[in-house]
Amino acid sequence: MPSNRDSCMRATWVVLACVVSSPWGEAQEMIPKPSAEKTPSVRLPQTAIDKASFPVVDVHTHFWIKGRHDAELLDRYVQWMDRNGIEVCVSLDGQIPGKLDEHLDFLWARYRDRFVVFANLDFIGSGSLDRPGTLACNDSRFVRDMCERLQAAADQRRVSGLKFFKDFGLRYRNADGSLIAIDDPRWDPIWECCARNRLPVIMHTADPSAFFRPADQDNERAGELAAHPEWSFAGPEYPSRESLHAARNRVIARHPKTTFIAAHFGNDAEDLQELSGWMDTYPNLYVEFSSRLNELGRQPYSSQAFFERYQDRILLGTDGPFPEERLRIYWRFLETRDEYFLYSEKSPPPQGDWRIYALGLPPEILKKVYHANAAAVIPGVAERLAARHPHLLD
Ligand SMILES: [Zn+2]
Repeated sequence: MPSNRDSCMRATWVVLACVVSSPWGEAQEMIPKPSAEKTPSVRLPQTAIDKASFPVVDVHTHFWIKGRHDAELLDRYVQWMDRNGIEVCVSLDGQIPGKLDEHLDFLWARYRDRFVVFANLDFIGSGSLDRPGTLACNDSRFVRDMCERLQAAADQRRVSGLKFFKDFGLRYRNADGSLIAIDDPRWDPIWECCARNRLPVIMHTADPSAFFRPADQDNERAGELAAHPEWSFAGPEYPSRESLHAARNRVIARHPKTTFIAAHFGNDAEDLQELSGWMDTYPNLYVEFSSRLNELGRQPYSSQAFFERYQDRILLGTDGPFPEERLRIYWRFLETRDEYFLYSEKSPPPQGDWRIYALGLPPEILKKVYHANAAAVIPGVAERLAARHPHLLD
């Protein structure tokens, strides 16, 4: 059994977490940097790409959750979009009832040509997670009411899709205290409404596999979990990651006319063989890779093969608004053949202590991933692209 201090020294991330509460002031001096941050001895080409080679649609952004309707941020971000070649952003923050109209007013007042919005459903309403019986989603009128609102927004062309957050499956509970199942048949009218109106459903299900394992010294994401204990879903009080994925997959199978976009590569970028199996089984399943450069970039051969095979069903997302430095890492990752570089502008790198390798995708795949696939499945995107680049989608 190693001593407390020994086990701290085994992983740099854990050392950092330990020292925060260390009574030894001088320990600060001894903290080694995480290995991804150290200057590598290997000398490699560093390709600076400050604009994507083809027009980009970013299908995963949060201009309310992260941007808080800050008009200055929006103006600045649109300048970054212009500089980087991002033509259209999809904001996923149009909560109904309530926030959708305000969100559209905010984005469309000046930039109607640059943004479309996905709705998301307010499962909580005036209720409280501590008392599940009070949650809006447990009211018998919830599904009908949400479908009516979604239909009205679709009729007015004010919504381009529907977003589900990870709380769906992990935190929302039935009145009896049991977790709400993703594949509960009571949601079927919602999936059907989306199919009728050709609204894709983007779903964040579960989380990285490391977050479902104990945050011990063998967990490669222990540093993050120490800093954010609320990200951990390890323990008997949570459903398994596998059961969440299986429930989502049953929904996808049961509603073949609904287009599903699994956010963050289905939270399964760690296992592209498994994700490939899902892609092969469900032709109505698409994926977007926001915040997963960390995973894809450490398995570049597997990732290249995946992008080659599923090039018609992969969309680009960033989970932004993020600083321009982060956007440029996406272009570098997709377009160059750079090796062993940082996947984030943040220090230490926020999603695992390692570096990544770029994919060097050919132009025909880049065009699909950057914009053509999004234009094909997300209402409102093609017309915005065409207005700015008349022959882009010919
Ligand atoms: Zn997100």
